[in-house]
Amino acid sequence: GTRRVLVTGCSSGIGLAVAARLAKDELRRFKVVATMRDLGKRGPLEKAAGDSLNKTLEIKQLDACSESSIRECVNSLPDRRVDVLVNNAGLGMIGPLECQSIDAMKELFDTNFFGLARLVKEVLPDMKRRQSGHIVVMSSVMGTQGLLFNDVYSASKFAVEGFCESLAVQALKFNIKTTLVEPGPVVTEFERKVYEDAESMDLSGTDKETAKIFREMYLPYSKKIFASLGQIPEEVAEQTVKVITDKEPPLRHQTNRLYMPMTALKHADPTGRLPLDSFYKMTFKHDKVFNATLAMLHLLKRIGGKK
Ligand code: NAD
Repeated sequence: GTRRVLVTGCSSGIGLAVAARLAKDELRRFKVVATMRDLGKRGPLEKAAGDSLNKTLEIKQLDACSESSIRECVNSLPDRRVDVLVNNAGLGMIGPLECQSIDAMKELFDTNFFGLARLVKEVLPDMKRRQSGHIVVMSSVMGTQGLLFNDVYSASKFAVEGFCESLAVQALKFNIKTTLVEPGPVVTEFERKVYEDAESMDLSGTDKETAKIFREMYLPYSKKIFASLGQIPEEVAEQTVKVITDKEPPLRHQTNRLYMPMTALKHADPTGRLPLDSFYKMTFKHDKVFNATLAMLHLLKRIGGKK
């Protein structure tokens, strides 16, 4: 039969692409409940959904930061049935820690982590009763490997990973699957917003050297990474659909093979020295290491072809 998939954060980026891709499935395996906080932003999704709109895709309001909004949305579904939850809504944040307010950090956690906790609390009891379901969570490679100037964002994704890794064991007892999708850089509004904020960020809260490292090293470096390794949301969506249709879905799925050398370092050395040294050298020692890494990745891309 068809499975009902509830996706959060569908007004742009990965959420929009996942919702549209599921709705246009040739085998018509899905009924998509594409949700967003602000229905006024439904235009791009409606356009992407095309003919599937109000057939295999319906748009509903859902704010991941509001329990009542989540409950109202789930209550509006026949039998409250959600077969697959795609928890995608999320915020980004970069920059020196001293320049960020605790309130902004809390807001980020309220969306990225507590948003997930609220959604799962709402759908898990029903999934348990039905002894079926799949919880799919848009995490990030930064949920397994921290990155310079991404302290708070990375922490929020680590929280998501710990939550899901723990929950997955209990869920499995009720035949419920859990999958963390871990994209590397993806070119979306997310990236644009984060850079826009970064350019205009007030760096007076930190010392000159840190500000300089952030502006003159990190930002250009990060833009290079996005330009050379960045995926488009449709690629992430395609792989998310594969995960959803997988008979034995993995607990973790990295979407970007080109990024794997960076995340593999951690598993290669439990003391953490190897990834720490590598990221340190890549950032501070000389641009040469970084350029060599990029060259290697380009080569891999050519050899491996497009995934
Ligand atoms: P995006 O900004 O285009 O999409 C995020 C969506 O979440 C937006 O539509 C936004 O309106 C929505 N949202 C924010 N707060 C919300 C709330 N309280 N309730 C409901 N919706 C809310 O960015 P994206 O890249 O598509 O990000 C989607 C997910 O992918 C995020 O969880 C992000 O952390 C993750 N991710 C992104 C990248 C990347 O490089 N872009 C990489 C790895 C992981």
